Amino acid sequence: MWHEPAREVPVLGRPDVLVVGAGAAGVAAALAAARRGADTWLIERSSSIGGLATVGLINLLLTLDDGAGHQVVAGLCQEFVDRLAALGRCRFPPKEQWNSEDAELVARWRGSGLVWGAPESVRYSVAFDPDAFVDVAIAALRHSRVRLRMHTSFAGVGLADGAIAAVLVESKKGREAILPRAVVDASGDGDVFVAAGADYEQVKIPPHLWFRVGGVDGGPRGFVFDTLDPGRVLVPWGPHAERVDPCDPDDLTRAELACREGAAAAFADLRASDPAFARAWLDDYARMLGITESRRLVGDHVLTKEEGDFRFADAIARTGHWTKRGVVYEIPYRCLTTPAVANLLVAGRCISTTRYVHQATKEIPAAMATGEAAGTAAAIAAAAGTGVRTVDVDEVRVALRAAGADVGG
Ligand SMILES: Cc1cc2nc3c(=O)[nH]c(=O)nc-3n(C[C@H](O)[C@H](O)[C@H](O)COP(=O)(O)OP(=O)(O)OC[C@H]3O[C@@H](n4cnc5c(N)ncnc54)[C@H](O)[C@@H]3O)c2cc1C
Repeated sequence: MWHEPAREVPVLGRPDVLVVGAGAAGVAAALAAARRGADTWLIERSSSIGGLATVGLINLLLTLDDGAGHQVVAGLCQEFVDRLAALGRCRFPPKEQWNSEDAELVARWRGSGLVWGAPESVRYSVAFDPDAFVDVAIAALRHSRVRLRMHTSFAGVGLADGAIAAVLVESKKGREAILPRAVVDASGDGDVFVAAGADYEQVKIPPHLWFRVGGVDGGPRGFVFDTLDPGRVLVPWGPHAERVDPCDPDDLTRAELACREGAAAAFADLRASDPAFARAWLDDYARMLGITESRRLVGDHVLTKEEGDFRFADAIARTGHWTKRGVVYEIPYRCLTTPAVANLLVAGRCISTTRYVHQATKEIPAAMATGEAAGTAAAIAAAAGTGVRTVDVDEVRVALRAAGADVGG
C-alpha cells in the first residue's frame, strides 16, 4: 500500500444542488433542480452529455406507456420528445396506434427498434437522433442556468454528521472540492453512494457495443434498426460472451477491445452476407460500452416484482415495462434515498430496486423520470434547509405534477 498524505484542496463553490453524471437521468435532475430556482451544478467525466442514451448509441426511448394504451412517463422526457419532434429528429407511433397488434403497424415500428416482448404490439416508444438529444439537452441546461462542467470526474466525498459536506472532483486541474447542500448521484454506477458508505448490490454483466452503419440499400435486412437518416441503420451488437465487472477498469478495457473486435466482425458478416450492405460503411461505434447494470442502491425501499401495480403514497414516478404489457411500477421516493446519507438522492439506472424491476426502471424514460424527481426533491430540500429524507414528499409530488410529470397515485 502507498500512503497518500492529506492535503488542502481548493473549493470550487457551494451550489444548492450538485448532480454527478450527465446521462439522461443527470440532465433531467439538473434541469428539474434549476427550474425550482436552485443554484445547480452538473459534473460529467466525459466530453459529452446523455450517457448511454447518446454516447452509448442507445437511441430508443422504451417505453413511455403502460402497454395498454396509456402514457405513464411524461414530464421532462415528454418535453425532450416534443423538442426533438420540432427538429424533425425523432420518430414515434401516433397515439391512435398504441397497443395495436396490427401486423403491418407492428412490422413498421419493429423496423425502428420500437417493438419488443410478446405478444407484439405497438408501444409509445421513440427513436431519436443522439446528437439532436445532446443539442436539446445543452439548450435546456443553458436556458435553466445549470453550471455544466465536463471533463470532471467525481473522486470522493467528505462526510460530516451523516451528510456529504464536500464532493471531491478530479480534472486536469487536479483535485478540487465542491460543497453542495444536496447531491444527486446520477453516475449510473452509484459512485457517490459507494463512496458515502451506503449499502448496494453489484453484478457482473455481458457488455454490448452498438454501432451505426451508413450506405445501406433498401429491402429486407437482418436485426438492425432504421435511424432517422436514409441508408443509415443502428446495429444493436451484443451481448459479448464474457461477463465483466462494469466498475473494474481492467475488465472494462478487455471488454472494450473484445466488443470492438466482435462488432467489426459482425459488420464484415453483414457486408458479406446481405446484399443491402454490399456498399455500406461503418459510421461509428458507440463511445460508451453498453452496460445494462452495475451497482444498485439498497435504499430506504427496494422495489420488487411483487409491487407491480402497487400504489405508493410517496410515488414520485411511474414506468411501464418494455417487454411486458399492462404492468406499471410506481416508484416510491424511498427508492432514491438511503439511511446512510442525509443529503444524497440517487437517480437513473442505479436506484434501489431488485434486478427484476431494474429491467423497467433502467430504461431511459424511467431514468429521466427518477432524475426529474431527484432534482426536484434536492431543490426543495436545499431551499428548506432539511435533509432529503425529511423533505415534504407531498410537496415534491405537487411540484412534479405541476411540471407535467406523472407521479401516479
Ligand atoms: C445494450 C443496452 C441496451 C439498452 N436498450 C435500451 C432501449 O432500447 N431503450 C431504453 O430506454 N433504454 C435502454 N437501455 C437502458 C438505458 O440506455 C440506460 O439504463 C440509461 O440510459 C441510463 O441512464 P443514466 O443517466 O442512469 O446512466 P448513464 O447513461 O450511464 O449516465 C451516467 C453518466 O454519468 C457519467 N459518470 C459516470 N461516472 C462518473 C464519475 N465518476 N464522475 C463524473 N461523471 C460520471 C457518465 O459518463 C455518464 O454520462 C439499454 C442499455 C444497454 C446497455
